[in-house]
Amino acid sequence: KLELVDAKKWITLFVEKLESNQTILNELDTAIGDGDHGTNMKRGAEAVTAALEKKEPETLADLYKTTAFAMIQKVGGASGPLYGTAFLDMSKAVKNDDLELSDLIQIGTDGLKRRGESDTGMKTMIDVWQPVSDALKADKFDQSVIDAALENVKGLVATKGRASYLEEKSKGHIDPGAQSSAYLFESLIEVLG
Ligand code: ADP
Ligand code: MG
Ligand code: MG
Repeated sequence: KLELVDAKKWITLFVEKLESNQTILNELDTAIGDGDHGTNMKRGAEAVTAALEKKEPETLADLYKTTAFAMIQKVGGASGPLYGTAFLDMSKAVKNDDLELSDLIQIGTDGLKRRGESDTGMKTMIDVWQPVSDALKADKFDQSVIDAALENVKGLVATKGRASYLEEKSKGHIDPGAQSSAYLFESLIEVLG
C-alpha cells in the first residue's frame, strides 16, 4: 500500500520526468504520431503542479482526483482523457482502505482499457500499465519489467491511436504513451525504494 506522503512523491517525480523529457516524448510521437505527446504531457505536468500547490491534497483520493482533473483539462490529445480516467478511477477505488497497490494499478489499467476501447497488444500505454500491474501482483516489480515492456511495445504493430494509421510501419518504434507511462512507473520504483 502506498501512503499519502509517498504517493505525493510519486506524482511529483512523474511530473518532473514529464517536464525534463518533453523533447524525447515529442520525438517518439513525431515518428509514429503527430509529434505533440511531450508538449501535451508537459502542459499536464504544469497543471498538476499548479493544482497541488493551490490546494495541498489531504487524502489519496484528493491527490489522484486533482491529478486526473489537471490531466483531463490541460493535456489535450488522446492521452489526457486516458490518464485522467486512470487517475479518476484510482481516486474512487483508493477510498477502500484495504486496496493493495497492485489492485490500484489494475484499476487504473482497466480505466484506460474502458476509455480507450483498447487492450494489451495494441501498442499503447496499456502495454506498460498491464505488465506493471501483473508484476506488482506477483511481487516482482522492478526496472526490468518496464524495460521489457518497452522492448515488447517496440515490436508491436499499432492498432489504436494515431500510430495505427501507419500499420506495419509503426513497428520498431516505442509508443510515446508507453514511454510516458514508463516515467510514471519509474517514479513509482523510486518511491518504493
Ligand atoms: P494524440 O494522439 O491525440 O496527439 P498524444 O500524442 O498526447 O495524443 O497521446 C498519444 C498516446 O495515447 C499514444 O502513444 C498511446 O499510448 C495513447 N493512446 C492513443 N489512443 C489510445 C487508445 N485508444 N487506448 C489506449 N491508449 C491510447
Ligand atoms: Mg500526439
Ligand atoms: Mg495531437
